[in-house]
Amino acid sequence: MTQSRPIPRALPVFPAVPAPGESWSSRALRRWFDTSVAVEVVVGRQDRIDWLRAVPFIAMHLACLGVIWVGVTPVALILAATLYAVRMFAITGFYHRYFSHRTFQTSRPVQLVFAVIGASCVQRGPLWWAAHHRHHHRVADAPDDPHSPRVHGFLWSHMGWFLTTRNFRTDLARVPDLAKFPELRWLDRFDIAMPLALAITMYGLGVLLQHVAPQLGTNGAQMLVWGFFVSTVVLFHATVTINSLAHRWGSRRFNTHDDSRNNAWLALLTFGEGWHNNHHFFPGSARQGFHWWEVDLTWYGLKAMSMLGLVHGLRPIPAWVLAKARG
Ligand SMILES: [Zn+2]
Ligand SMILES: [Zn+2]
Repeated sequence: MTQSRPIPRALPVFPAVPAPGESWSSRALRRWFDTSVAVEVVVGRQDRIDWLRAVPFIAMHLACLGVIWVGVTPVALILAATLYAVRMFAITGFYHRYFSHRTFQTSRPVQLVFAVIGASCVQRGPLWWAAHHRHHHRVADAPDDPHSPRVHGFLWSHMGWFLTTRNFRTDLARVPDLAKFPELRWLDRFDIAMPLALAITMYGLGVLLQHVAPQLGTNGAQMLVWGFFVSTVVLFHATVTINSLAHRWGSRRFNTHDDSRNNAWLALLTFGEGWHNNHHFFPGSARQGFHWWEVDLTWYGLKAMSMLGLVHGLRPIPAWVLAKARG
C-alpha cells in the first residue's frame, strides 16, 4: 500500500508529558519509544506505514480465511454477531461519546468495564483512541487531521494512518482527564492484553461447548475464528467507515468546516455514528440522531443504562441546534 501524503515541512513535536505516578519501567519504555520516534523523524519516515507494526493487523485479516477450514455453525454466527454488537456499543458509547467527548458521566467501575470491552476490539486503548479523535475534531479535514479522505486519500483515512510512527503514540497532553486513571493507562500500555484474553476465552468456550453440547457442532478453532477474528475485523472496518466514508458519502445538513456527512446506512452499521455531520456540528451531545427517525442505537442503549442508574447526566442536544436542524 502506498500513500501520497506529503511529508510535513517542520519536524513534529512529541511532547513527553509524564503521566502521574509513572513507574520507572514505563518511563524507560517511553524513552525508548521517543528515541525511536526521533530516529524516524530524522530519517523522514514518521508518516509512512511501519510494516513491522502492521504485521498483526494483516495477520488478523488472514486469520479470517480460517473459516474455510473451521466451517460455520449457527452458534458461531450468533456469538460473532453478539460480540460485534456489544463491542460496537462499547466503542461508540464509551470510546467515542464518553472518553473522547465526555457527553455523560458514569462511575469508575462502569468506566472500567466498558474500557475493557473497548480494549478487546483491537482498536488500542481508550487514551490512544480519544487522543486521536479529539485531535480529529480540532483539525477535521485540515492538513493536520490524521485521517482525512480530503487530505490523505480514501484508503489512507480508512486504514493507513494508524500504522505510522507518528500516530502510534498516545499524546497524553490531549487526554489529561483520562490519564489520571492508572487502570486506563494500563489498558493503553498493554493494549494486546484484552484482545489476547478474548481470543483465549473464545477458544476455551469452543472446547467447552464441544464437550458439554456436542450437538452444536462447534469447537475451539471455530469459536476463535468467528468469535474473535471475523467479528473483530468486521467491527474494525465498520468503525473506520466513519473516518473514511462518513467524510465522503451522504448528505450535509450543517455547513461545517469539514466534509462530514449524514448517512443512514452507516448509522445502522455503526449504531448511530453515521449521523456524522450532526456530530461534527455539535459533538457535545450524547445523542447523534437529531430527529426521531435518525436511528441512533447507541443513544437508546445509553438511555436504557441511565434508567438503570449505570450512567447519568446525558448531555442533550441544545434547543438552538434542534431549531437549526429543523431548518
Ligand atoms: Zn469526522
Ligand atoms: Zn467525535
